[in-house]
Amino acid sequence: MSESVAVIGAGLVGALVALGLGHRGYNVTLFDLRDDPRTAGTAIKKNLRSINLAVSDRGIRGLEFVDSEMSARVLKEIIPMHGRMIHTLDGKQESQIYGLFGEHINSIDRAKLNESLLDEIDTFNKTAVNQIKLKFEHKLVNLNFNTRGASVECEVRYGVKRSFDFDFVIGADGSYSNVRYQMQKYIRMDYSQEYIDKCYLELYIPPGENGAFLLNPNHLHIWPRKEFMLIALANSDGSFTSTFFGPWSLTEALKKAEDIETFFLSNFPDAADLIGMENVVKAFTGNPKGALMQVTCSQYHFSDKCIILGDATHSMVPFYGQGMNCGFEDVRILLGLLDEKETREAAFDTYTANRHKDLKAILKLALDNYKEMSTKVISSAYLLRKTLDSFLGRLIPQYWIPLYTMVSFRGDIPYSQCVRREKTQQKILKCIELGSITVVAIAAYWKFKK
Ligand code: FAD
Repeated sequence: MSESVAVIGAGLVGALVALGLGHRGYNVTLFDLRDDPRTAGTAIKKNLRSINLAVSDRGIRGLEFVDSEMSARVLKEIIPMHGRMIHTLDGKQESQIYGLFGEHINSIDRAKLNESLLDEIDTFNKTAVNQIKLKFEHKLVNLNFNTRGASVECEVRYGVKRSFDFDFVIGADGSYSNVRYQMQKYIRMDYSQEYIDKCYLELYIPPGENGAFLLNPNHLHIWPRKEFMLIALANSDGSFTSTFFGPWSLTEALKKAEDIETFFLSNFPDAADLIGMENVVKAFTGNPKGALMQVTCSQYHFSDKCIILGDATHSMVPFYGQGMNCGFEDVRILLGLLDEKETREAAFDTYTANRHKDLKAILKLALDNYKEMSTKVISSAYLLRKTLDSFLGRLIPQYWIPLYTMVSFRGDIPYSQCVRREKTQQKILKCIELGSITVVAIAAYWKFKK
């Protein structure tokens, strides 16, 4: 008889890993504390984060590894973003292209992607013998591991509790993971959680007449203002989802309509026109403000009984657009190891041993990238170095790959290797810059002497 597995969390990563395990013949039950988002009322839907995400190579590889036809279906509405569009204070727009050879990242609606993945489970169930069972409104409250596997205790409606037995458990229950907490009672897991002093707030740029885009849809729009910034990603209906990132103290101090108006008009005048000042005020006073934090832990598994994936393992700040992409990469790597290794324990052991350095690397890259997006993109020294970096990337692509390209378009290069290669490249760039400055100084000296 095939093995039974409980996947806790029917978010992006949980839904994908459930499908991957279903394809491999496991008896999967997918639990989530929420209602089914596809049938939930609009009030509940409104409370869900309706942000759109940038999906890039690592995420797409994860989806394709599970099922390439499924991947094409769930990604059919993506909007390619070829570069950043920098909005300066005086209203100018400057395009900075991401890829060296036409590569791009893609904008996708997070809620729609989650719903599509759940629809794919229904499609899978139409033909599969081993149906994936969906159990919404089941909140994991306790996990007990025993010699046979794991007993999953869930709170159902009205505080009623029910227990289910499985051979093993996969925790994909997000940043505040209960599976992680339960596993900590059994293993010596290092764990840290750190908030950064930034919150995020969603705003909405409506479509123009006849669903026209009011900004170029094929760019990720950034209004970089150092301590705070605004970004916007296109939706397929002509609208844009925009997100404001700023320190808590600043955002919470903006309470009165006139203060919000003054702040927004003096920092994002062009965006104020697009969003409409009334809507900006409504968003700042009424929309939820999200906290941003980093979670790191190690190890990720307990013998062959439990493992955690996605934000449960590596909640990161969103500035590299890699949280979900990295979570889908987790799924690809874990499924690959389950296919390859003789035992599940060997697969889990190898996963923990190999994955940690890569997760550490992307967490740091994500944190550092706030500065790049909010400040560096408007510095001429940075732009000069970036031009040289891209020039070398085009000239000798087999030896030189800019960091952004490695992280976003080269899922075959592990994150830790991206960082290692980038360090070397940066040293070389510095030498070239120093060399160039020296040559210019000598030339100027000789010209002056003559
Ligand atoms: P989640 O999406 O959090 O899903 C966890 C699920 O577990 C939920 O459905 C929850 O209801 C369920 N759950 C929780 N506890 C329990 C319990 N006790 N019992 C049962 N169920 C439970 N990533 C990118 O790749 N690109 C981007 O551009 C990007 N932009 C972002 C922008 C912002 C502002 C933010 C905040 C994040 C962004 N991310 C981005 C990150 C991305 O959203 C997350 O990495 C991704 O959603 C993680 O998926 P997950 O399935 O691991 O966790």
